[in-house]
Amino acid sequence: LNRRLDGLGTTIFARMTALAAETGAINLGQGFPDSDGPEVVREAAVRALRDGRGNQYPPGPGIPELRQAIAEHQLRFHGVRWDPDSEVLVTAGATEALAATLLALLEPGDEVIAFEPYYDSYTAGIAMAGAVRVPLTLHAPDFRPDIDALRAKVTDRTRLLLLNSPHNPTGMVLSRAEAEAIAELAVERDLLVVTDEVYEHLVFDGEHVPLVSLPGMRERTVSISSAGKTFSFTGWKVGWVTAVPALIAAVRTTKQFLTYVSAGPFQYAVAEALRLPDAYFSGLREELRARRDQLSAGLREAGFTVHPSAGTYFVTTDIAPLGEKDGVEFCLALPERCGVVAVPNAVFHDDAEAGRTQVRFAFCKRPEVLSEAVERLRRLA
Ligand code: PMP
Ligand code: GLN
Repeated sequence: LNRRLDGLGTTIFARMTALAAETGAINLGQGFPDSDGPEVVREAAVRALRDGRGNQYPPGPGIPELRQAIAEHQLRFHGVRWDPDSEVLVTAGATEALAATLLALLEPGDEVIAFEPYYDSYTAGIAMAGAVRVPLTLHAPDFRPDIDALRAKVTDRTRLLLLNSPHNPTGMVLSRAEAEAIAELAVERDLLVVTDEVYEHLVFDGEHVPLVSLPGMRERTVSISSAGKTFSFTGWKVGWVTAVPALIAAVRTTKQFLTYVSAGPFQYAVAEALRLPDAYFSGLREELRARRDQLSAGLREAGFTVHPSAGTYFVTTDIAPLGEKDGVEFCLALPERCGVVAVPNAVFHDDAEAGRTQVRFAFCKRPEVLSEAVERLRRLA
């Protein structure tokens, strides 16, 4: 086995979802909604399939309708203008976008600074590129990045910053001041920045500030997002990258030899989804906000310390008040103990100590499912 794969194994999400299936527990582990996205968007996919649009290899960079819709979406929500032909690339979800970007931009031995806890595909993507990850630990209770500590981690070998806001698993959302400080550092030290913005529409407190919109950032930022979270179609795996032509061309080269092209019919449907009115996007946000509030309150009543989540699908808790010392053991035993699955934050850390008693719960579930989960968790006390 290639030593770069050491320690990667099976993702925690697949393991926890399998555990939920085996035990019949409520799955608040892996982040996926338990109801599907808009009917009109599903209809658009069916129409594309039926009419034979996208059933054969679509164009490598993505179908023109989708690239155009992505460019319009970035302008409408972020005020950033992209040329759909040379500055937009469609990928198989944000996961492929991340892997293709890291493989395209990193040389072996390059250092990548990323927030820890990390989303798990970052460690894998960095390892597959033969690069070195350098964590900037986000600490409870508010998980704010320490910008001075970030600055101190930049060395001559630092090639890029890999940023995720809204942040999975903590729910931290970068403030405008933090985003500006990071952008200034990137310009000063001439770093590339890769931003994972899959939760861009799920900000409940504060605002989403795309790094690329800040001074000096356009030339050096690769922005990544996907349809999974924004339209509740995590199984469709339609994602995208926006960046200046030279960076897009590099990522297109790696994408070309990972998947060649992304599945066709869903691209037509996502093009329609991206053009939904503003009310769709704010409606989704308000629905998820209510679910965040419901689950956070329930977990608090059940005895957890609940760290505020300003965005994403997730809330991070601390299990110490329940007399628990280890999140991994707790999550492995939880399905048997009370029929709920959650994810230990420790697996997203190099420094396992920092997240040892932190456990992530997903709130992207129907209200009745969340209340049943809370009922069950109350039995722990
Ligand atoms: N980045 C983050 C932070 C995520 O939580 C996820 C999971 N949706 C992804 C990337 C992967 O997104 P996709 O399903 O579009 O590959
Ligand atoms: N993003 C989802 C999560 O954090 C999982 C996606 C996956 O399983 N790769 O739970």
